[in-house]
Amino acid sequence: MTRETPEQRSRVMAAVKSRDTGPELAVAQALRRAGVRYRRDVKRLPGRPDFLLIDARMVLMVHGCFWHGHACPRGARVPQQNRGYWQAKIARNRRRDQRVARQLRELGYGVWTLWECRLKRRDLQQGLPARLLAEIARRAGC
Ligand SMILES: [Zn+2]
Repeated sequence: MTRETPEQRSRVMAAVKSRDTGPELAVAQALRRAGVRYRRDVKRLPGRPDFLLIDARMVLMVHGCFWHGHACPRGARVPQQNRGYWQAKIARNRRRDQRVARQLRELGYGVWTLWECRLKRRDLQQGLPARLLAEIARRAGC
């Protein structure tokens, strides 16, 4: 693997940004490159998972750090205005996420959360996280 200078890297990231409209599209492209078959926004499953991996009985949830209360700097930022309102709303979202994940596991699906901040830090052009690929392979039984 070749090392990039920060300038090269920011150029690459800028190009990625202009092509992709969001983290979900980057994930979709990485899945396609890895040859992983998926369906998007699966309405028939609890929580309408962002991705259902067809061959692995597994779902991927792409979560924005603010809305889903990630334990990261972005997730910890709460607007000064109406703090109580936002804190209650994000707490509700987190409870719903936990409930949905439990329901999906009860249906036999593996649940994998991809946080927006990690997707930003990681250039998905380089591929999906190794741990995720290993889990997909394990669940696909290959
Ligand atoms: Zn985060």
